[in-house]
Amino acid sequence: MSAVTPVSCRPLLDLPFTELERELAAAGLKPFHARALWRAMHFETATSLAERTDFAAPLRQWIAERAREGAILEAELPEQAADIASSDGLTRKFLLRLADGQTVETVLMGFTGRHTACVSSQAGCAMGCVFCATGQMGFVRHLRPGEIVAQVLHARRALQASSGEAASGLRNLVLMGMGEPLHNYDSVMTALEIISDTRGINIGPSRITISTVGVVPGILRLVEERRPYKLAVSLHGATEEERSALVPASRRWSLAELIDACRIYCEKLEQRIFFEWTLIAGANDSPAQAERLARLLAGIDAHVNLIPLNPTVGFAGNASATAAAAEFQRVLQAAGFPSTIRQRRGIDVAAGCGQLRAEKTRRNLAPTGEPAGSP
Ligand code: SF4
Repeated sequence: MSAVTPVSCRPLLDLPFTELERELAAAGLKPFHARALWRAMHFETATSLAERTDFAAPLRQWIAERAREGAILEAELPEQAADIASSDGLTRKFLLRLADGQTVETVLMGFTGRHTACVSSQAGCAMGCVFCATGQMGFVRHLRPGEIVAQVLHARRALQASSGEAASGLRNLVLMGMGEPLHNYDSVMTALEIISDTRGINIGPSRITISTVGVVPGILRLVEERRPYKLAVSLHGATEEERSALVPASRRWSLAELIDACRIYCEKLEQRIFFEWTLIAGANDSPAQAERLARLLAGIDAHVNLIPLNPTVGFAGNASATAAAAEFQRVLQAAGFPSTIRQRRGIDVAAGCGQLRAEKTRRNLAPTGEPAGSP
């Protein structure tokens, strides 16, 4: 059994407000000290906590003691290894280098008046979806809660710096970056507790979407714990055979088990489920496959997002033609399922998860901030 890290050594950005308050109270500090520290970490992350001269003396002393113990003090904003923008100006993709040198991707998507951050939950991914650049690189490690929170802080700061928009301009969060969020369940839930806290980043639970490839135990745990977040389930195939060819993880949790878990989720939490379907020409985009999908989802309050494939070096498939995507959608709509064909935003910034990291690795990591398109 691995040793439990003492709370006093946990990185501060890993702590929800109540835990931070408890930790400070154990050292004899007051709630207003916790509020000052929380504000500094979540709103003023550019400043080193150890250098803050405006904190009350007991808080400065507590921070100094932690520093002597070697605990991580800072808000830990990761170093930016790349920042590239799509040609339509609506998508920015960041490659962020974590303290141990691992890099993860964070995407900021801008739509008029509302911005969405897409964050990573793991470095690499163990699920191995064949068309996904992250799946092609394999699993490296789980991210800590603070490493997930830091990505949102990074996106928010970038938004504020580029457009002068208030912190509230970042309104939505999706966990659709690198990694399988339900494979890193505890860290993700702690991060979401911090991110949705109204005293901090304040992205409401109904504006947060967890995307899963179908980790059945994780879906059932969301139900048991009555987590209020939205759920998006990646299907890509409506039979075991077709799905397992694209999503190897489905050999572990069968399609039948997954659909059962989705039904339980909808019924018990009274929530709609979003199903993601990557449209790959000639592989899963026929009208017959759309009919099978409609039969599979019968009785579920479902919305289907159809996503033309983002090409990757490690997968030979192509995105479905516009007409095939439209026909697939027509069949779903005739069966009563609302659906959306997603625009391929950011295709020129390697927007599919893992693509920027893979591209940078291939190029042997261009210097910080260099546009990916640079020679
Ligand atoms: S699509 Fe998601 S779950 Fe599948 S390999 Fe990529 S990151 Fe992992």
